[in-house]
Amino acid sequence: MPQVQKLLETPEVQALLKAHPHAAVVEALRAALGAARADLRSGAEPPDAQTLARRAGDALAEGARPYLGRVINATGVILHTNLGRAPLPAAALEAMARAGLGYSNLEFDLDAGARGARAAGVEPLLRELTGAEAALAVNNAAAAVLLALSGLAAGGEVIVSRGEMVEIGGGFRIPEVVAQGGARLVEVGTTNKTRLDDYRAAISERTRVLLKVHQSNYRIVGFTAEASLAELSSLARERGLLLMHDLGSGALADLGRLGRTPEPRPQDSLLAGADLVAFSGDKLMGGPQAGLLVGRAAALDPLRRHPLMRALRLDKATLAGLEATFRLYRDPVRAVAEIPVLRMLAQSADQVAARAERLGDLLERAAPFEIRSSEAQVGGGSLPGEALASWAVALGETDARAESLGVRFRRGETPVIGRLSGGRLLLDLFTVADEEVEALATAVRAAIHLDSPG
Ligand SMILES: *Cc1c(COP(=O)(O)O)cnc(C)c1O
Repeated sequence: MPQVQKLLETPEVQALLKAHPHAAVVEALRAALGAARADLRSGAEPPDAQTLARRAGDALAEGARPYLGRVINATGVILHTNLGRAPLPAAALEAMARAGLGYSNLEFDLDAGARGARAAGVEPLLRELTGAEAALAVNNAAAAVLLALSGLAAGGEVIVSRGEMVEIGGGFRIPEVVAQGGARLVEVGTTNKTRLDDYRAAISERTRVLLKVHQSNYRIVGFTAEASLAELSSLARERGLLLMHDLGSGALADLGRLGRTPEPRPQDSLLAGADLVAFSGDKLMGGPQAGLLVGRAAALDPLRRHPLMRALRLDKATLAGLEATFRLYRDPVRAVAEIPVLRMLAQSADQVAARAERLGDLLERAAPFEIRSSEAQVGGGSLPGEALASWAVALGETDARAESLGVRFRRGETPVIGRLSGGRLLLDLFTVADEEVEALATAVRAAIHLDSPG
């Protein structure tokens, strides 16, 4: 077995030393030697210096590969929480790079030459877009709800309908968030029916907030009733309480105009009389991860001074990305063209079919495949059960083969995440951008090549 010192002098290892730190190369050589010695004991031939160098090189390359990176989402789920939810608009990313590469005027007012407000770029735009009197941005919508309840209801009671005891996933459950905010939850109504009188009867002198939660990720159908925001607003006004709407996904754009089922917008909740509305930045809004609060200044001002605000505040890159995303929303046509989530929602099934055909052409005869209709989804706890007409390329003739292809796809240089369905691996083109089709074809060909028997 060669010594580490000898290996270090070989041209192969000299090449590794150009790309990796000396200590890491030595470490990788020791590991390769250790593994070879173990193989030797079980009767294997001793490897030559080139083989050892190659094994060390593979391990170094593997270790240098970043954990978090780009993948191609061929699941057909637009807001896939495991895959980073909303892909960002290019304008947002450019703004984030500009704010992050050097110094920025994050808390510096350039006109006054003095300390400025951190969110001076985003809050006026958010007010403009939603018609709100005041706006506030924090780390995510869960943080926005927690901050609002902590600042406005701690020590008091919050009334929520039993039909709206939502769990979002990742441990965000309304009853637990209310408790964490230091308030007592008062449940009213039943799972399927809650009336205005149920809220009215539950109001005590300790009630602070009526909380309405959007049933983002489930629907209650059949024999149902709920109190509207407008009704709750009059009740809140009459009894001197605050009405808060946890809207979750909160589309700023009118999805009805994109030919989809409309989702309630924050501006609609405000018009209906909500005092404050919480929603996400990276769901249907299609921007960076953030939690947005819009509403009356009297409701939001105490939150700015709450100690949690400091813990939940946004960093400069996110603020820059949010501001750029809001600027796109000023022009609805530009918003649909440049915000990937909206662009995907606005595409027709024919456009997706054309993309599937193009992928098919690029695959040629690399593998047997079939182009078939598919159903994409919004995901991210929005529009549950709403099927978006789509097209997919189906691969793998057997269950086992579809599954092993799925593994190859995930482990490729550009990982591809598809969807197993009926014993086939589906690549749904709804969530694949035009610019990604070529890379997708390359990844598919590489995976199939590696996967082919023999
Ligand atoms: C998604 C969602 C949240 C949490 O939003 P994040 O931005 O993921 O923190 C809160 N409330 C509702 C109703 C939601 O749908």
